[in-house]
Amino acid sequence: MQYDVIVIGSGPGGYVAAIRCAQLGMKTAIIEKYSTLGGTCLNVGCIPSKALLDSSEHYHNAAHAFSDHGIKLDNLAFDFGRMVARKQEVVNANTSGISFLMKKNKIDVHTGVGSFKDKNTIVVTKTDGTKAELTTEKVIIATGSKPSSLPFLKIDKQRIITSTEALSLPEVPKHLILIGGGVIGLELGSVYARLGAKVSVIEFMDGIIPTMDKALGRELLKVLKKQGMEFYLNHKVTGATVEGDEVTVTFDNAKGEKQELKGDYCMVAVGRVAYTDGLGLENIGLTVEERGRKITVDEHLETSVKGVYAIGDVIKGAMLAHKAEDEGTFVAEIIAGQKPHINYNLIPGVVYTWPEVAAVGFTEEQLKEQGAKYKVGSFPFKASGRARASGDLDGFVKVLADATTDEILGVHMIGPRAADMIAEAVVAMEFRASAEDVTRASHAHPTYTEAMREACLAATENRAIHI
Ligand code: FAD
Ligand code: NAD
Repeated sequence: MQYDVIVIGSGPGGYVAAIRCAQLGMKTAIIEKYSTLGGTCLNVGCIPSKALLDSSEHYHNAAHAFSDHGIKLDNLAFDFGRMVARKQEVVNANTSGISFLMKKNKIDVHTGVGSFKDKNTIVVTKTDGTKAELTTEKVIIATGSKPSSLPFLKIDKQRIITSTEALSLPEVPKHLILIGGGVIGLELGSVYARLGAKVSVIEFMDGIIPTMDKALGRELLKVLKKQGMEFYLNHKVTGATVEGDEVTVTFDNAKGEKQELKGDYCMVAVGRVAYTDGLGLENIGLTVEERGRKITVDEHLETSVKGVYAIGDVIKGAMLAHKAEDEGTFVAEIIAGQKPHINYNLIPGVVYTWPEVAAVGFTEEQLKEQGAKYKVGSFPFKASGRARASGDLDGFVKVLADATTDEILGVHMIGPRAADMIAEAVVAMEFRASAEDVTRASHAHPTYTEAMREACLAATENRAIHI
């Protein structure tokens, strides 16, 4: 079969690229090694984690917040099996939605491992070992990533697990030990802490979510400790062993003193590495970077082999679903001869703890490092009428703006629905708005978004109304 474009991998990068190629009139195929489409994000990432976060949040609120609202519940209990089954129903609905979109856009789906024979020929190997050859003008590699580990840790998938197993555990752990205080650790740690597990986080750096603006990590740490999570910052894991149902994790503190924790599960969440196994890159003369095993691309997301492109987690940049999607659209339009653009500085980052954390643009630490002249406007949710009504008083919105031009350079928020609220900041910054521009736009009352306007007012001339 001859195609204009073959996409390898059906995650948010791959399926969006395929749809955009089809929309632009290209004969398109997508190859996926698993029987369901949607990649990490839909099957074992964004969607299942958010389903469990929502279920556990409902339970947690019923147990801890409802009484304050005057709602009494007797014999409150949860059915963990049902929560996990519901998560799977959500996943199934989403992945079959992608199959529908492939049909709707007349994209051929080939199930099997895609491998380069040469730059225009892809061999698809099915699970039964049978092979088919497809030929194409262009190829888009969208093979994503897999969890990384530490060289001395053996992930047995039973007691020492990754996020994939943590999404389908047979029980709520009694004591979950997390290695890594990044996004995955804190999201899945929140799920189990809300359901009653003791959760201990061992983090190598001196703060959690260390790549985000430091003010966010400090506030989140405070709130998660209040929710009962325990943190070992500045600690270095040295090993983990399993005996029966017990895991022992050994680690050193900043002074090099040896410590250990015993639990029933240990989840390793120390980042992810690009996935290129079985792709046959060597057959087209492509190598991967030593660190992170990423495929190198140019500004058009084209590899050093003409006509072969790569997008999403398998290339440089943030490992985020929306970044992969943006690149999927971008690369299809490049192939079609258009001139698309991605502003990588304006890809938002979100952590779905409660309160949620969301950010876009430069952090204060980055601005300091650049020697930029900036001003800061901050507004706490405890001063928001909407947040008082819902009882979500933790967190703030922090706006960083250019000291001279007032252009917004970064927005960092932690609070209720921050994941949705960050969109206003992204749009404002895409249009290079000043902090004052945002203050001049009407914000419905009472909404959490008023906190964004107040932070912009604070940044403009220290003119916040409600603090
Ligand atoms: P992937 O989604 O990894 O898809 C790659 C696909 O390629 C896979 O289906 C794989 O089977 C297939 N494949 C690989 N090799 C071959 C081959 N040779 N032949 C055929 N098929 C192949 N990001 C967010 O933005 N928001 C979130 O809330 C979020 N939550 C997450 C939660 C967890 C627990 C995890 C693990 C990740 C989360 N992410 C989140 C990250 C997000 O899932 C990834 O950034 C995103 O899936 C990357 O998309 P992709 O298309 O590059 O690759
Ligand atoms: P991460 O990079 O977010 O966090 C890893 C953490 O582990 C870091 O804080 C790091 O300092 C720490 N660490 C590294 N080595 C360590 C060691 N030896 N001992 C202790 N701590 C150590 O990675 P992740 O949480 O595994 O997530 C992987 C990717 O998935 C991320 O790039 C993220 O963007 C993506 N993801 C995104 C979302 C979201 O958008 N909400 C959710 C989950 C995952």
